[in-house]
Amino acid sequence: MPHVVTQACCGDASCVYACPVNCIHPTPDEPDFGIAEMLYIDPATCVDCGACVTACPVGAIVPGHRIPETQERFTAVNAARYAEPDPAAARFPVDARWRKPLAPVDRPKALADVPDPLHVAIVGSGPSAMYAADELLKHRQARVTMFERLSEPFGLARFGVAPDHQSTRSVVNLFNAIAGDPQLEILLNSEIGRDVTLEQLREQFHAVIWAGGAPTDRPLEIPGADLPGVQSATSVVGWYNGHPDFTDAAPALDTERAVVIGNGNVALDVARILTSDPDRLAATDISRDALAALRGSAVREVVVVGRRGPEHAAFTLPELIGLADGPAHVWVDPADLAHVDHPDSEKLALLREISARPRPSGPRIRLAFGLTPDRVCGDRRAAGVRLLRTGTDDAVELTAGLVLPAIGYRGRPVPGLPFDAERGTVANLGGRVTENGLPVPGMYVTGWIKRGPSGFIGTNKTDSRETVDHLLADVAARR
Ligand SMILES: Cc1cc2nc3c(=O)[nH]c(=O)nc-3n(C[C@H](O)[C@H](O)[C@H](O)COP(=O)(O)OP(=O)(O)OC[C@H]3O[C@@H](n4cnc5c(N)ncnc54)[C@H](O)[C@@H]3O)c2cc1C
Ligand code: SF4
Ligand code: SF4
Repeated sequence: MPHVVTQACCGDASCVYACPVNCIHPTPDEPDFGIAEMLYIDPATCVDCGACVTACPVGAIVPGHRIPETQERFTAVNAARYAEPDPAAARFPVDARWRKPLAPVDRPKALADVPDPLHVAIVGSGPSAMYAADELLKHRQARVTMFERLSEPFGLARFGVAPDHQSTRSVVNLFNAIAGDPQLEILLNSEIGRDVTLEQLREQFHAVIWAGGAPTDRPLEIPGADLPGVQSATSVVGWYNGHPDFTDAAPALDTERAVVIGNGNVALDVARILTSDPDRLAATDISRDALAALRGSAVREVVVVGRRGPEHAAFTLPELIGLADGPAHVWVDPADLAHVDHPDSEKLALLREISARPRPSGPRIRLAFGLTPDRVCGDRRAAGVRLLRTGTDDAVELTAGLVLPAIGYRGRPVPGLPFDAERGTVANLGGRVTENGLPVPGMYVTGWIKRGPSGFIGTNKTDSRETVDHLLADVAARR
C-alpha cells in the first residue's frame, strides 16, 4: 500500500528530495507550497520504497498498511489531493513537472569567492536559525555563532509546540544533530541588545542573520480585556511548556468554563491541553508545575470561538482530524453549521460528522463559530464573555472565569533595524534587510520576523535557504 503523510507533517519538504519518483507535492517550487497545510503523497505513483520515511524529521510518513487508527483519515486526505478534479489544480495550473523526477539539488560545498573562514552570526536558535545554520554549514568555509537569549535552544520548537504533539517535537533531534556540527557555536543566555549590541555583532562578523521570531500577541481590544482572568493563549502555552518568561503565568483553573478567542491551531492546542486527562499528559514533557495545576483544575469545558463561519475556520484540517480522532472530547452545535452557504470542504464535512456525535459528558472542547467578542464581563475578575453573532446585534453570553485571546502573533521592532509596521516584520527583500528599499550591507533576516507568523516549522527551511543564498551571493560579490 502506498505511503501516507499524517498529522505531524511540518512541511520541511525533506521527503520531496528523497522520493525517487517525485510523487510528494506540493514541492517548494510549486505555487501552493506556501499555503499548503501539509504535503501529500500521490498513491497512484508511490512505489513504496520508504525513502521518504527515513528523510522525515518528525516521523510523519507511514506505510499504508501500518497506519494507526487515529491517523486513518489521512489516507483519503493524501489521495484527495490527486483526485480529479484536483482542487489545487483548479486554483493553480498543473505543472508539467509533476510526474517527472526532480533534478537533484546541486549545491557547491565550497564557494570560490567567499572569505575563508566566513564568520556569520545568527540571532536566535529557533527553527529558522537552525535551518539557516544548516544551510551555511554545507559550505566548508562557514563558521556560525548563534546567540540565544534563553537558557535552552530551539525557540518555539521547544517552547511552543504542544507537549502532546511528541512527533512534531521530535524535530528537536534534527536540530540537536545540526547543533553538533563543530563549526557551529551556540551561546545561550546571550541576548542581543542586552548582553551584546547589534553594532558589535556587525563589526565582528562578515554577516548577521536576525532570526528572533515574532513574539508579541495581538491584543484583544474590547472592554474588560484587562481584567484578571484574561490572559493571552501564548502565556498559557509558555506556562505549560516551562518557558522561563512564563513561570508565573499559571491560568485561573478554578472555573468550569474557559473561552478561547480565535480558532487557529494554537487555540486548539490550548483547548486540548486544558481538557486533557492529566495522566496522559504525565507521559509528556509538560512542565511539572503545569501538570500539578491541571490535576486540580475545575475546567469542564473550553469554548473555542471563531468570528467567522465554520467554512472559514482558521485551524488546519490535520489538526481537526487530530482532535476528532484523538483522545480529546470535542463537539460542535449543529445549529452552528445549519446556515452554511458553502459547498462542503473536507474540513466542513468533518465538522458535520462531529456535530452528529452525542455531546461528550467529560471535560470537552466546543468549537463555536460566527461570534464576535464584544466585552469581557465581570467586576474584579472575568466572569464571562459577551459575544455578538457576527454582523448582527444579537448577543450571546457565556459564563467563564478564564478568557484566553489567541488572535495571532506579531513581530516587535528590532532596535537598529528598519521595521515594516504594516507586516510586523523587519523590512526586507528575500531576507536582505532593506532601508528605503536599499539593502543594508551584511544584515539579513529569516523566519517569522522575515515573513510574518505563518507556516509550519518546516516552512522555515525554504525561507532560510533563500536568505542564506542571498547572503552568500552578497559576500561573494563584495570581494
Ligand atoms: C504556540 C505555537 C505552537 C506551534 N506549534 C507548531 C506545530 O505543532 N507544528 C509546526 O510545524 N509549527 C508550529 N508552530 C510554528 C513554529 O513554531 C514556527 O514556524 C517557528 O518556531 C518560527 O521559527 P523562528 O525561528 O522564526 O522563531 P522562534 O521559534 O520564535 O525562535 C526565535 C528565537 O530567537 C530568540 N531570540 C529572540 N530575540 C532574541 C535576542 N534579542 N537575542 C537572542 N535571542 C533572541 C528566542 O528566544 C527564540 O529562541 C507553532 C507556533 C506557536 C506560536
Ligand atoms: S515510499 Fe518512496 S515512492 Fe512512496 S512517497 Fe515515499 S519516497 Fe516516494
Ligand atoms: S515533515 Fe517534511 S519530510 Fe515529513 S512529511 Fe512533512 S514535508 Fe515530508
